[in-house]
Amino acid sequence: MDILDTLSPIGAILRLDISGRPMEWIGFEMAAYYTAKGLIAWTHGEPFRVLRGGTNKRGETTTMDLHPVIANRGRPWRDMPPPPLSNEALFHRDENTCLYCGNVFSRTQLTRDHIIPASKNGPDTWMNTVCACKRCNGHKRNRTPEEAAMPLLAVPYVPNQAEYLFLMRNRRVLGSQMEILRANFRSRRILEETRDWPGAPARVSA
Ligand SMILES: [Zn+2]
Repeated sequence: MDILDTLSPIGAILRLDISGRPMEWIGFEMAAYYTAKGLIAWTHGEPFRVLRGGTNKRGETTTMDLHPVIANRGRPWRDMPPPPLSNEALFHRDENTCLYCGNVFSRTQLTRDHIIPASKNGPDTWMNTVCACKRCNGHKRNRTPEEAAMPLLAVPYVPNQAEYLFLMRNRRVLGSQMEILRANFRSRRILEETRDWPGAPARVSA
C-alpha cells in the first residue's frame, strides 16, 4: 500500500492494546521490533509488507510479515485522556471546512475559532472550538454565534482515540484498519461521515 507509505508522516501500522483498543500509529521498524521480541498477541488483516532481514545459519534470508493491525501483549489500557487539541487536528476534524460559511479552504486560510470567545471566558477545548475561515472569524469578532447571527453548520465533538487516529491520518486507512477504528467510533458526525466507507459493517472489505 504505497499510499500509506508515502503520503503520511506518521506510521502506517495501527497498534492496539490486547483488548483491541486503538492506541497509535507506528512505523515498520517499531512493528518489526514488537514482532521480533514476541510482543504481539494477535494481528488483523493480511500482511501488507514483508521485511527482509539478514541470513540465518543455513544461508537463507529471513523475512518478517507485517500486518496492518497489531495488538500488543500486556495489560489493556483503561482510561485514555482525550486527544490533545491542535489546529491540525481541529482542521482535520472539521474537514478544512469553515463551520460558519461552509466553504473548504487551504490550511493557511483557516483559523481556530472559539464559539464562546476567549474574551468571554470561552475555554480552549474541542467543544468550544471550530474551524473557521479568516473572513468569518473576522466578521464574528468577539461575539457568540447568536450575537453575530452566524449559526454553526455542525456540532463540535471531542474525538476519542480511534477517531483521532483516523483524523490524523487524514482519513487514509486500509479497510482492515477501518474495521477496527470504526467499531470504536462514537461521535455521530464521524459515524455518519464514514457510513459507506470500506470496512464499515455493511461493506466489509479485505
Ligand atoms: Zn467562513
